[in-house]
Amino acid sequence: MERDIKKIISQMTLEEKASLCSGLDMWHTKPIERLGIPSIMMTDGPHGLRKQAGPSFSDSVPATCFPTASCLASSWDRALIEKVGKAIGEECQAEGVSIILGPAVNIKRSPLCGRNFEYFSEDPYLSSELAKSYILGVQSQGVGTSIKHFSANNQEHRRHSIDEIIDERTLREIYLASFENAVRYAQPWTVMSAYNKINGKYCSENEFLLTKVLKEEWKHEGFVVSDWGAVDDRVSALIAGLELEMPSSHGINDKKIVEAVRSGKIPEEVLDRAVERLLRIIFKAIDNKKEGATYDKLAHHNLARDVAKECMVLLKNEDNILPLKKQGTIAVIGAFAKKPRFEGGGSSHVNPTMLDIPYDEIEKLVGNSVKLLYAQGYTPDSEDIDEDLINKAKETAKQSDVAIIFAGTLENYESEGYDRPHMRIPESHNRLILEISSVQKNTVVVLFNGSPVEMPWIEKVKGLLEAYLPGQGGGHAVAELLFGLANPCGKLAETFPQKLSHNPSYLNFPGEDDRVEYREGIFVGYRYYDKKGIEPLFPFGYGLSYTTFEYTGISVDKKEIDDNETVTVTVKVKNTGSIAGKEIVQLYVRDIQSSVIRPEKELKGFEKVELQPGEEKTVTFTLDKRAFAYYNVYIKDWYVETGDFEILVGSSSKDIRLKETIKVNSTTKIKKKFTRNTPIGDLLEDPVGATVFKQIMDQIKQSVPFLAGAEGSQMMMAMFRYMPLRSLINFSRGAFTEEMLNDLLAKLQ
Ligand code: BGC
Repeated sequence: MERDIKKIISQMTLEEKASLCSGLDMWHTKPIERLGIPSIMMTDGPHGLRKQAGPSFSDSVPATCFPTASCLASSWDRALIEKVGKAIGEECQAEGVSIILGPAVNIKRSPLCGRNFEYFSEDPYLSSELAKSYILGVQSQGVGTSIKHFSANNQEHRRHSIDEIIDERTLREIYLASFENAVRYAQPWTVMSAYNKINGKYCSENEFLLTKVLKEEWKHEGFVVSDWGAVDDRVSALIAGLELEMPSSHGINDKKIVEAVRSGKIPEEVLDRAVERLLRIIFKAIDNKKEGATYDKLAHHNLARDVAKECMVLLKNEDNILPLKKQGTIAVIGAFAKKPRFEGGGSSHVNPTMLDIPYDEIEKLVGNSVKLLYAQGYTPDSEDIDEDLINKAKETAKQSDVAIIFAGTLENYESEGYDRPHMRIPESHNRLILEISSVQKNTVVVLFNGSPVEMPWIEKVKGLLEAYLPGQGGGHAVAELLFGLANPCGKLAETFPQKLSHNPSYLNFPGEDDRVEYREGIFVGYRYYDKKGIEPLFPFGYGLSYTTFEYTGISVDKKEIDDNETVTVTVKVKNTGSIAGKEIVQLYVRDIQSSVIRPEKELKGFEKVELQPGEEKTVTFTLDKRAFAYYNVYIKDWYVETGDFEILVGSSSKDIRLKETIKVNSTTKIKKKFTRNTPIGDLLEDPVGATVFKQIMDQIKQSVPFLAGAEGSQMMMAMFRYMPLRSLINFSRGAFTEEMLNDLLAKLQ
């Protein structure tokens, strides 16, 4: 419906405008009835709806619990995630919710962050691409999203006061980039500002983030909502570009806005602009409301099952122990088989409409063809080792042909509000796996966990299925994958290091007092392990299948481009096994030689392809400037250094199958700034500078004979390289004067 928003604003009193800038209660915006401005509802998110129906987190209306983001991301499947978004959008419509508080796209800087299960990846390109799909899916249903937490909310420790010290290039290339494509190309209705500070400023009061980057550069059209309780100084936040404070400030902060306008601290136009952004989204939400909407709970449960199957990652499959045959005796061990972990704690906690139990699903699937045994192995919510339970489990395993152990992190290990103190699963689970594998050579482990764990038993087991926190359909998905009714096709969206101390943030996480320095810079995740040559337990992009794939025939449509052009890369991928499967083809770019420090390679493209046995498909990627660029802090823009780049295509970050090289020419000329303290070497690298230097030297040599041989002496030239230009004055004993230096500098401007 067409409305004259500016006219509505002109009819609002100052108090009414200010009142719109904070919530009515925990979940609604304020209505202004006299002007026909309605109230809209927003709720969590992200992997299902948490519409609170009572005072506690768990009192929420039943909704489909999809796999959490770390699991979803392992699908590397844009279309699938869009489908999930669409289903969540439908549930929002049915529940009268206008905005879902997700997706959450903070980068997994450390495996210890308590909310990693809610986040997609350690790689900003992958994270942003998947977020884009989620947003497009939800918003296709006339429901808004809130991409969060903007930005760098990478730890829970002291999250309301921590100051994240991040250099500009790292912020741009890693932490902001995770939001960038999603905001630019999917236009989430809202962006949620994070609790933490970045470089001394709260995100909610950070004009650089909320106005310069978000509104001016990325052209965000919606509004910024604070994380719940993230506003310290309401007036500064409004000036910085934060339109809505949540939850309600009970009028306290609205008054401060009114006073600030009255006293002239903020021009009323600033408030008007904020109100305009709010009203555009509020009315959009109302216009898109589908009264009487419902959704099919069973269909969504089936979708949750299908999605979980596409996400789980097969990490080990020695002797092709998997898929299991429906025969003999199989021991199912571990309390998680009957009481699975399927989601994490905190604001994302969904009350599922149904829940698949892995043991029951296995039982249904194998029917009478298998003798199924069960042993609990450990107490579900405890870390304590129970020798009796372990011994019983060992006896069960001994009587079986295969043992499947369900293990993982406990419910209180992963939640909003705190970080993990270590990267281990409970000792009771580790012991159980070691004991079982000592009596049963055919042992398969299924892990339920939201982020990487150390695996002291990995050499002892034959199979490992990383199920992550797979949502309410996870039990069914596990059964189908274990017995080959589905073929695993997920790959890790994060590195599993061998141990915590290998992680790049290890020395600086979670910081000291209220300050954490991101000293690893851009070297997050595989960017670090690659560069340092540290062998991970499982690398970024890794995952097995029950079939095999062959990569051939890489080709590029141009061998040389300018950075304002694109290049198309094609590769052929063939299923060389005997069953259908899906492969995630990954494209990385490597700058062969660079004057700045760069990672060994960076992900710049991925496609998931489905292939029947023997089938071959051509996969196409298009690369533009950003695929080759780094963020140049001097020109404050993305910049490609002219030179050769390798295009690497493979099956994981450590399994590159094909390579091509292309040359990219920069169309941006960076003008070097010369001063009296610029090293002479820099002058020599500049074509004009080199000619001028030669003229100067010819002149000086006549009066300072010992310099005559300088150009022929490697040692002299090496010394010269780092000397400042001003040193020529003394060196030449006055033949080169201050005036001549100034002339030279003027010529070089
Ligand atoms: C969380 C957000 C969440 C909000 C509302 C905050 O504590 O950080 O992710 O959306 O609460 O529940």
